[in-house]
Amino acid sequence: MSTIDNLPPLREVIETHQLSARKSLGQNFLLDLNLTAKIARQAGDLSECDVLEIGPGPGGLTRGLLAEGARRVLAVEKDARCMPALAEISTAYPGQLEVINGDALEVDALAHLTPPVRIAANLPYNVGTELLVRWLTPKEWPPFWQSLTLMFQREVAERIVAQPGSKAYGRLALLAQWRADARIVLALPPEAFSPPPKVHSAVVHLTALAEPRYPADAATLSRVIAAAFNQRRKMLRASLKSVAPNIEDHLIAAGIKPTERAEQVSLEEFCALARSLKPLE
Ligand code: SAM
Repeated sequence: MSTIDNLPPLREVIETHQLSARKSLGQNFLLDLNLTAKIARQAGDLSECDVLEIGPGPGGLTRGLLAEGARRVLAVEKDARCMPALAEISTAYPGQLEVINGDALEVDALAHLTPPVRIAANLPYNVGTELLVRWLTPKEWPPFWQSLTLMFQREVAERIVAQPGSKAYGRLALLAQWRADARIVLALPPEAFSPPPKVHSAVVHLTALAEPRYPADAATLSRVIAAAFNQRRKMLRASLKSVAPNIEDHLIAAGIKPTERAEQVSLEEFCALARSLKPLE
């Protein structure tokens, strides 16, 4: 018996619905419902939220989210084979689970959600990073979501929370930390999944800030950071030459030594540089 609801154990669900894991869909399933409930708890108080779950698969995390009291879950899954298993969960939680069979990169989930919204997912890593970047770069801030609780390959998780001076520090850290508080809340070994992936994983929890941590024009900040880290070993006066002809003046105005390299520069300094290049109204 499973411990969190009256539905069958996940191994049985997978067998009944013949959900053999497909590599092409990045399918590494979590089968321990205590673990999925633990991940769901990291997502915060769900009782007054709609939760958007991407890639529910056989529904381990979905069941965790519902058992932890989510008001409603909207789950978007690409693999049609998972629909009957997810329908059983809908029946066990009447009116609380809506499932869309589609690609999360294409589906307009927002149309199906009522705020406040939290997002939780154990996704293939490439899709996860793409969605994270989209969720962090909407046209308007604050975004439609309050928090993101996402599983990543450990190295990617480390890049999201990295601080200046570390090898992992770069565009992803700056993008995430400009508009959110980000922390690693759980580390998972390969054996936590079936089949086990080759890499270790970690869950990152990001909470949206009401406004960006430091003022800056989003497009200018993004251009500066991209140029700086495209040539991360070069001094900024060289790597940022293409951004503005008098880049040294802007670096000095922002309090950054022109001989500094990208990985030494803090988020606050990058924002000051973006403001020097494009003053805010
Ligand atoms: N959440 C389940 C769990 O924890 O056991 C499954 C996790 S598995 C790593 C990733 C899931 O994402 C699979 O069910 C896969 O079919 C689904 N998936 C892959 N690409 C997707 C996409 N573009 N949109 C929606 N779901 C996707």
